[in-house]
Amino acid sequence: EYKGMSKERMMEIRRQNCNPMIMKVTYYKKPVFIHQGYMQWLWDVDGRRYLDLFAGVATVSVGHCHPRVTAAAEEQLKRLWHTTNIYVYPPLHEYCKKLASYFPDPLKVVYLTNSGSEANDLAMLMARLHTGNFDIITFRGSYHGGSPQTMGLTSNAAYKYPIANGLGCTTLLSLSPVFGLIQLTLFLPDKQTMCPDVFRGPWGGSHCRDSPVQTIRDCSCAQGQCMANEQYIGQLKETFATSVPSRIAAFFGEPIQVPYSGVGGAVQYPKNYLKEAYKLVRERGGVCIADEASRPVQTGFGRTGSHFWGFQGHDVIPDMVTMAKGIGNGFPMGAVVTTPEIAASFAKGVHFNTFGGNPVACVIASSVLDTIKEDGAQQISLDVGTYLMTELAKLRDKYEIIGDVRGKGLQIGVEMVKDKASRVPLPPEAMSEIFEDVKDMGVLIGKGGVYGQTFRIKPPMCITMEDADFFLAVFDKSVCNYMEKR
Ligand code: PMP
Repeated sequence: EYKGMSKERMMEIRRQNCNPMIMKVTYYKKPVFIHQGYMQWLWDVDGRRYLDLFAGVATVSVGHCHPRVTAAAEEQLKRLWHTTNIYVYPPLHEYCKKLASYFPDPLKVVYLTNSGSEANDLAMLMARLHTGNFDIITFRGSYHGGSPQTMGLTSNAAYKYPIANGLGCTTLLSLSPVFGLIQLTLFLPDKQTMCPDVFRGPWGGSHCRDSPVQTIRDCSCAQGQCMANEQYIGQLKETFATSVPSRIAAFFGEPIQVPYSGVGGAVQYPKNYLKEAYKLVRERGGVCIADEASRPVQTGFGRTGSHFWGFQGHDVIPDMVTMAKGIGNGFPMGAVVTTPEIAASFAKGVHFNTFGGNPVACVIASSVLDTIKEDGAQQISLDVGTYLMTELAKLRDKYEIIGDVRGKGLQIGVEMVKDKASRVPLPPEAMSEIFEDVKDMGVLIGKGGVYGQTFRIKPPMCITMEDADFFLAVFDKSVCNYMEKR
């Protein structure tokens, strides 16, 4: 019981008074009633402890209720909660300066928001105003948010609404006096190019996995010419050909596709894909946006281990980076970081965000950056992440139903299949059985992928090798239990 409220009562309230969608996304058949968190641990209302390897979809970056971040928040809560952009207050300036210092030139101008969707909405608007173009290209299987605009970017069908008008798309009209134009917001028709997925997509496949450097498929293939890359770049060129009139406002890419290991399932692209894509987009007048909200929303803030930002692993510099999730270690916050040139195009109108950049959020986010440094979180991501993937790859070789292990640092996807030859996704009931078993043994992981076929592992960046060993033993046992029963 919590404050005299039984679990049954909570479920009743959930059914009657809460957003009905959250019933749909309750992951577990037997729900976990979470009550408290500390670093990599969560406790339920009965006092049972779980090792949290999902951490609110990588939202908790340095650990639940990290003492340093909590202390910073407490101090600020006693001083000043809110003000507006009208006044000058130190935490905003300290944080913008600090965050900008983590980016290469010319990414120096910071806009603070309250979520990833807001950050992506803002980035879309800025890209359209800056380029004078409309079309925005994303990957199939991507997720970029739940606002009307970002729903158009998002291609994962699970997050779409089946409503349409006579145009075959949903339209929202809004008058924007600031820019003196009628904004026509379209839900559906942003352009999606094929996700360069070398496991489930038509190109790549065994060729990639057979390469000796691909034991963990990190797409650092040393084979020279990557055929998969050429084919997927060809798909991107075809997508350009259907744009009007071959002009692009922006290309939105998640440095690692969250829908596959992220919401998307942690898909890693062939080497050089993003580099070539960026060049082609810029030739067509577009700007390149890295959505690190999934992933920084999930891929940023040191999570990939080798680099602080996901895009750095692709040797590119985007024109805009959007982020959320781990930025505030669970406190609601998001950001867009862009160039002075793009900011100048946007400054023709008035933009403000009432809560974006409030002092509490800024102090928390600033202390998150300091904590990542002090706790060596990026190094932990690299060491523990590499260990986890190496050991998971051994389980992949042991079990017929583990099709692929991929990722970077502590952003890992384990794709489950009926069998390795067919690569047919493991059905939802089977995924659920393993998932529930892992939870019953005290470990929380996530699920994702277009078919719900990928386990997602994205723990707070404070986990230890012992935690990794515990999870590996639990996962091995759960898969083994399932195999014995089937
Ligand atoms: N972009 C990506 C890549 C995400 O993963 C998410 C959230 N899962 C978002 C955007 C939206 O962020 P929010 O839920 O904070 O609006």
